Amino acid sequence: MNDRLAERVRQRADWATALSDRIWELAEVGLQEHQSSALLAEELAKAGFEVTSGVADMPTAFVATYGSGKPVVAILGEYDALPGLSQKAVPRREPLREGAPGHGCGHNLLGVAGVAAAIALKEEMESSGLGGTVRYYGCPAEETLVGKVFMVRDGLFDDVDAALTWHPAALNSVWAASSLANNSAKFRFYGRSAHAAANPDMGRSALDAVEIMNVGANYLREHVVEKARIHYVITRGGGEPNVVPAEAEVWYYVRAPKREQVEEIYQRLLLCAKGAAIMTETEYDVEFLAGCYQYLPNRVLGKLLHQNLRKVGAPPFDEADRQFARQLRETFAPGQQEAAVSRFKELAEELRGKDLHDGVLPLRESDEVMPGSTDVGDVSWVVPTAQFATACTVIGAAGHSWQMTATSGMSIGHKGMLTAAEVLALTVRDLLTRPEVLAEAREEFRRATEGSPYRCPLPQGARPPHHQLEKH
Ligand SMILES: [Zn+2]
Repeated sequence: MNDRLAERVRQRADWATALSDRIWELAEVGLQEHQSSALLAEELAKAGFEVTSGVADMPTAFVATYGSGKPVVAILGEYDALPGLSQKAVPRREPLREGAPGHGCGHNLLGVAGVAAAIALKEEMESSGLGGTVRYYGCPAEETLVGKVFMVRDGLFDDVDAALTWHPAALNSVWAASSLANNSAKFRFYGRSAHAAANPDMGRSALDAVEIMNVGANYLREHVVEKARIHYVITRGGGEPNVVPAEAEVWYYVRAPKREQVEEIYQRLLLCAKGAAIMTETEYDVEFLAGCYQYLPNRVLGKLLHQNLRKVGAPPFDEADRQFARQLRETFAPGQQEAAVSRFKELAEELRGKDLHDGVLPLRESDEVMPGSTDVGDVSWVVPTAQFATACTVIGAAGHSWQMTATSGMSIGHKGMLTAAEVLALTVRDLLTRPEVLAEAREEFRRATEGSPYRCPLPQGARPPHHQLEKH
């Protein structure tokens, strides 16, 4: 495509690739992305952006602004890794560092594409005299649904007219589907320890309370909306079988298609905890860790993203990429690729037998709900927001997998990232130059949120869960 702005992005290809590889190697988990966020913030500052670090009570959150006045267009970036997914950029399981985190969701690519787009836009605005404000949001801890929720609560999006983001995936597409709203909380029970054989009558087991709470939650499942998801892990269950556990802890996620459904189910889960405590004569407390909204896609902005995604086209994969993809596909579970493809119903035929996506999916009007959660949801309820995906991995690769870490650190991921950067840059420019599109997006947003204004899912006075999450 012959476009000066797209050319500016492409000129940054080597720089962006090196930066994303550096963050890929660092692989820092949520709220600990100190070096990764500093790298991105420094590049933006060097390019002339005004950077404010440590916003919303999170040292790894930042905002970088260029330009002045309206409109204000935001690009959202993420850079947190996932525990246990360390992996070399090779198509077989080989950790870079045994047991260490890895970029199994490709957020190294996610963060850098937005920075590349923002800097290219700044150069373009400078040389063409184009007005308005471009703002990059460095959003930490997406995986634990923390960063953007606190950034929204602290009013960082109050003057923003539109927000854009993207995500590495296997297919080039605009996300028309919603996502699941979520609450994350830990339940801690306190009993009385005793010798489990000699004095069990003296003990009151906190682990019993956790187990009974889980039994309650497992019965609750049948009586909630169909698309709700309730999952838990027991994070503390006692030391040895011969000691009645005096303390135990279980960590829950409650998800559902709508925020109010999550709130209702969560209230009922609190009753399970209360009931378990009564039955076991234990005390308990609840620590609310995070909550987020379902994603509200803005169709007007989505259409614009789609036009630009088609203009830029699929990432230019070559034979070496295809060979890597074939080898990686060999590591999938039987039927994994086919299962991923058949979800696309009428489009499945076109995708079948392909390892790398070489097209752009048509724009779909969809009432679907993606079975996952993202804190982009909270931004989308205060600002018209749209997001898209580019092919950065092999069709059928699971999200949050070592295979995804592998492709996020090599040319397949790099090419997807550069495609995303071009699409972001072109779309922001459209929004800076076409006020009628922004007005239309705003009107759609107004209609969609009418009567159900955003209510922060966090309890009053909540602080980002720095310490709680570090343990896991
Ligand atoms: Zn992700």
